[in-house]
Amino acid sequence: MKALDELDFDNRFARLGDAFSTSVLPEPIDQPRLVVASDAALALLDLDPTQAQTPLFCEVFSGHKLWAEADPRAMVYSGHQFGGYTPRLGDGRGLLLGEVRNDAGEHWDLHLKGAGQTPFSRMGDGRAVLRSSIREFLASEALHALGIPSSRAACVIGSSTPVWRERKESAAMVLRLAQSHVRFGSFEYLYYTKQPEQLKELGEYVLAQHYPHCLHQPEPWLAMFREIVERNAELIAKWQAYGFCHGVMNTDNMSILGITFDFGPYAFLDDFDQNFICNHSDHEGRYSFSNQVPIAQWNLSALAQALTPFISVEALRETISLFLPLYQAHYLDLMRRRLGLTSAEDDDAELIAQLLQLMQTGGVDYHLFFRRLGDAPAADALRTLRDDFIDLKGFDAWGERLLARIARQDDGSQAQRRERMHAVNPLYVLRNYLAQNAISAAEQGDYEEVRRLHRVLSDPFNEQPGMAEYAKRPPDWGKHLEISCSS
Ligand code: AMP
Ligand code: MG
Repeated sequence: MKALDELDFDNRFARLGDAFSTSVLPEPIDQPRLVVASDAALALLDLDPTQAQTPLFCEVFSGHKLWAEADPRAMVYSGHQFGGYTPRLGDGRGLLLGEVRNDAGEHWDLHLKGAGQTPFSRMGDGRAVLRSSIREFLASEALHALGIPSSRAACVIGSSTPVWRERKESAAMVLRLAQSHVRFGSFEYLYYTKQPEQLKELGEYVLAQHYPHCLHQPEPWLAMFREIVERNAELIAKWQAYGFCHGVMNTDNMSILGITFDFGPYAFLDDFDQNFICNHSDHEGRYSFSNQVPIAQWNLSALAQALTPFISVEALRETISLFLPLYQAHYLDLMRRRLGLTSAEDDDAELIAQLLQLMQTGGVDYHLFFRRLGDAPAADALRTLRDDFIDLKGFDAWGERLLARIARQDDGSQAQRRERMHAVNPLYVLRNYLAQNAISAAEQGDYEEVRRLHRVLSDPFNEQPGMAEYAKRPPDWGKHLEISCSS
């Protein structure tokens, strides 16, 4: 375990040069204070968790101090935002401070979000508010704990620096960790600004650093694209299976590593609603819950366009056509497991679709249903769960179908079934209202609730003593919170 001043930097992306990023120094925020830190994320850097309690930690991640080996950079990219192309975006308020090489030989980007203005800030102030920083922190770490690939968050630092959004708020910084911050939009930028040499350089860089095994394939670029398609199919299957709605699936928010990235007004579903729109500025529902699947494929096509100088259009098309079947296979597999099924039958997709339809009509809590289904023997659990549904006849018929289905598999003992199901069905989920409670307290200077919520969500599958409050359905006020899109 290391101290902060012992980190080993190797700034590979910065060395690519000024065509890809621009040198910018962080602008510090006033009276920095630690809001929350993630020991597990710090461990990725081999950092001793007690380092978070030191004054230096606060100073470094609020922009007051910098390592001599850091090389802070604003990355340039563009992207399709809500379907329309924006020719230049770039890091308008986040900086890649540098890349840390850990003892296992992994490289982790230290990206400080809210670090002040850059040449890409356009009209923005370069800041992030406490509210959105806490939301990004909680979601990154909660998704990771659920087994859903995501960028990570090491800490949030609050401040007294005022920031104006719909109201006066305070500035914060979140330290995001990821093995790369290259986005689909990084490729699009170089393609549409007609910089073929740099586009090639970026692709070769990503291949060498992040997809080195593809270099041994006959067509390395195609192999890489194929893996990006595969990773996205698996990622989106996990979002859909666990009820996660990203909210801003613009191509500049799509990681080249196939991880959840750049959180906006995201939400986990409470009641199941396939048409749920968590971003209330998304009037057409482009990024609604169920649209995430076709949109991911659309985004892959946007990336494919930028790769046409290196891969034939035919091969790109063929590869993109793998997305949907791969997605469906992963989704089916996850949902079978969530239902406690240990084998595969042809009608399983229909069984799942019927359940979701019943949940949709009944406004049934998406998470607790699966958890409770594993709590007791299936027939007993179904009798209890029945009360939550509106179409009782429909639910009874579905229940009969499930029981018959279970009878055809080797189900093991109830203890085994419960253990198997609880391992994939979280008890604690980052519901919007839980985040909101923690944020309200933090805005008053009380960080205990953020820290407690983070702790609970770090171990979502295991019941934790005294934490029953976090495993409930949301109160009515908490169900339809309008999460501000400003951040
Ligand atoms: P986001 O919605 O956070 O993914 O941001 C979209 C684009 O707007 C990115 O280029 C951001 O860097 C930029 N941006 C968002 N908020 C700000 C801000 N407060 N100041 C400067 N740039 C911003
Ligand atoms: Mg973004």
